Amino acid sequence: MSVMSSLGISADEPGACSGPKAWHAADGAERLESRNPATGEFLGSVRCAGAEDYARVLRSAQDAALAWRLVPAPKRGEMVRQIGEALRAHKDALGSLVALEVGKIKAEGDGEVQEMIDMADFAVGQSRMLYGLSMHSERPDHAMRELWHPLGVVGVMSAFNFPVAVWSWNAFLAAICGNATVWKPSPKAPLTAIAVQKICNAVLERCGAPPVFQLLVDGPANALAQRLVDDPAVALLSFTGSSRVGREVAMRVAGRFGKCLLELSGNNAIIVAQDAALELAVPSIAFGAVGTAGQRCTSTRRLLVHRSREAALVSALASAYAQVRVGDPMDPATLMGPLIDAAAVASFEAVVAAALAEGAELVCGGKRLPGPGHFVQPTIFRARNDMACVQQETFAPILYVMPFDTLEEAIAMNNASRFGLSSALFTSNLRSAEHWLSAAGSDCGIANVNIGTSGAEIGGAFGGEKETGGGREAGSDAWKAYMRRQTSTVFHGERPVLAQGIEFRLPG
Ligand code: NAD
Repeated sequence: MSVMSSLGISADEPGACSGPKAWHAADGAERLESRNPATGEFLGSVRCAGAEDYARVLRSAQDAALAWRLVPAPKRGEMVRQIGEALRAHKDALGSLVALEVGKIKAEGDGEVQEMIDMADFAVGQSRMLYGLSMHSERPDHAMRELWHPLGVVGVMSAFNFPVAVWSWNAFLAAICGNATVWKPSPKAPLTAIAVQKICNAVLERCGAPPVFQLLVDGPANALAQRLVDDPAVALLSFTGSSRVGREVAMRVAGRFGKCLLELSGNNAIIVAQDAALELAVPSIAFGAVGTAGQRCTSTRRLLVHRSREAALVSALASAYAQVRVGDPMDPATLMGPLIDAAAVASFEAVVAAALAEGAELVCGGKRLPGPGHFVQPTIFRARNDMACVQQETFAPILYVMPFDTLEEAIAMNNASRFGLSSALFTSNLRSAEHWLSAAGSDCGIANVNIGTSGAEIGGAFGGEKETGGGREAGSDAWKAYMRRQTSTVFHGERPVLAQGIEFRLPG
């Protein structure tokens, strides 16, 4: 059976869904054509949602949230458990569709679906652990505690490079917390979103649950996305994408006093210390820089190497790069697929030209590869940390190598970035490792030792500082972002007492 038919996807799909039996979008609506970035092959088209679809989805999500908040959290978890099972059953097909639609190699496409499954399992457990605190009151016969309640409607806007996993980080926690989610996927990956919605619909219907997962495929002009940003019905807007767009989204959501969760750009560095084990560092750097064709928010873009190890490391990396097979993401021998589209290739070429103009020295790569498909060579430059090309996030497999003399200098270079997502130090020295993880070390949301910058597990809170946006998703206590906190005090005595010892006696 073909990937599309096993996921129930036809050549022309409506892009709005407000319930298992409620797919809609006007026949004459703008169509997004999805094409395989490795071949240009037509995969399918999706009719974008319009203003009426938007209103219908938001109304349905609000109704669903009102009903869902009354369902006990462990029962909500049971629904998410069944979605995890459905994803297990569809893992191969959905992983293939991720590979076909956004050009990830098949192993990474499958890995993305595995991340959704892991996230479902995590959310199921969390559904029994939405713990509040109880506090000791300063007053006699008073009980004070903290309660967590659902927010209502959560908007999720996702980027093309994790077309389905990012939605699951948000949607599964939002669901066990008692919310309904409206998903606005990337216009570059509409079919994977349709496929996930269909998998969820079957489970929602079987469980008799309200439609707590809803979908709005929007056109490239992002008209509905902007309505979602401004809509007071959306209690929390979780935005994953570039810092450029995230800045605008954050300001507009703040303007209406909405809650915002931001997962934005990164410019991640690996530090290779004088005492690093190169046999650990080289594969981690190669995977970090070349994996997903450099299109991960956690991709390794800067390599800071102790001057004494620079020649050996660059030479080992150049030989590793020579073995990286670039090509069809569905071929198991391929390690690097295409960039997402022609614009990404043009941006790669522009940055290569700008880097050369700034005086960066090309070690290998630097060219686009002949079509069909949006392929480029994995590229290494020797550069300086203060170069403009080094300080921007280019969503492509470009690695800048820069020498340092002391660990302090390397940490300062790591931290001298507008972004603060992921970072790693390769060292065999315990004191260096602990210093790196101390308050005087990395200023990023993720700081690793002897593993690379990309490939985070869902169990930890994921996100970054500075222009990466400050949000945290997935594991740890990230669930709290999807709930509102209520502090409650109950008096169970005879003589009420005011706090802070205040006397307030009414005359008579
Ligand atoms: P993007 O910012 O172009 O788009 C992200 C989302 O925003 C898409 O759904 C898009 O349709 C929407 N959008 C674009 N312009 C908008 C506007 N004016 N108003 C409202 N919505 C708008 O990002 P992209 O190219 O899809 O993804 C790559 C970027 O995402 C990189 O910067 C990467 O680092 C970042 N990213 C971050 C994380 C993270 O967790 N920190 C994860 C994945 C990707």
